[in-house]
Amino acid sequence: KAQEKAELLEINKQAAQYFYYQLRTEKGQTGLDYLKNRGLSEETMRKFGLGYSDRAGGGLYRYLKAKGYPDDRLRESGLFNVDERHGMYDKFWNRVIFPIMDVNNRVIGFGGRVMGDAKPKYLNSPETKIFDKSRNLYGLNIARTTRKKYLILCEGYMDVISMHQAGFTNAVASLGTALTSGHASLLKRYTQEVLLLYDSDEAGIRAALRGIPILREAGVNSRVVSLKPYKDPDEFIRNMGPEAFEQRLEEARDSFLFRVEVAENEFSMNDPQGQNQFFERCAQMLLELKDELERNLYIDAVVKIYRGRYGISSEDLRKRVNTL
Ligand code: ATP
Ligand code: MN
Ligand code: MN
Ligand code: MN
Repeated sequence: KAQEKAELLEINKQAAQYFYYQLRTEKGQTGLDYLKNRGLSEETMRKFGLGYSDRAGGGLYRYLKAKGYPDDRLRESGLFNVDERHGMYDKFWNRVIFPIMDVNNRVIGFGGRVMGDAKPKYLNSPETKIFDKSRNLYGLNIARTTRKKYLILCEGYMDVISMHQAGFTNAVASLGTALTSGHASLLKRYTQEVLLLYDSDEAGIRAALRGIPILREAGVNSRVVSLKPYKDPDEFIRNMGPEAFEQRLEEARDSFLFRVEVAENEFSMNDPQGQNQFFERCAQMLLELKDELERNLYIDAVVKIYRGRYGISSEDLRKRVNTL
């Protein structure tokens, strides 16, 4: 069993080296151009071990067969597709390749991106005996060594890489999978606080809302950063640069107040009925806070935001909470 895992790690390492080398060949030029076009330096590509799989798509299989690995083991690696007509063939072809490392810098899986608009945009290794998606975070092998007081959690490969290149080496990603308690306890090992930098679309907002209580349960505080009008950290940094990005990090929203502000959008705040329903919702959220001091602080914070617009006072809101 341990032998099996060791072999799978060995296969992944060989594959990473193969992809890495392919990026530097003549065929790999399209991959290299793509990554350069997205603003990545050679140094960044090296740091993340980025690679390329060419369009012929049989190269990795031949490469690993030549090293003597049996088909059964190769199948388990998740690097190949199998069907009756073609037998076993490379899963990744005509893509730039992102090796996924665990905290000990071992390659446990891969992601591959098309270089244009084809679909699916990303392919990822399936879960294998060495790749548990709910217990690994992309970039944590590097981020764990930074001495920042928080870690940044985002969605994608390119977000992590762009942030690291811009000097924010405390960024990690859950790679499109929903945040799990496994992720949260992994984060807890390295930090007390996480800044959520999910995409600024509806899906990203919902992912942040789901992530907040999961982090809280693991004992990790969270705040939420708005990247608007940009879609994700990568786009923000490319357009606005590292200083403006740093500014956004400093403006990170308290996660409770973020939830309140998201809730606000669900009500028609132009009429008293909508306002009343909204403050009812606020009261329900405040009731979740079991510590009285904490609850009072948040009552005041909520009132501070809405007093000007709706004339609500701390006493009003406290009374509402107490009637629940
Ligand atoms: P890019 O900037 O390269 O266009 P992105 O990271 O902004 O990509 P998103 O659509 O925001 O892409 O997705 C976030 C992450 O979710 C990706 O980095 C990838 O890990 C994962 N992902 C996205 N699309 C797919 C897909 N079709 N299949 C599997 N995983 C995906
Ligand atoms: Mn997204
Ligand atoms: Mn993006
Ligand atoms: Mn994105």
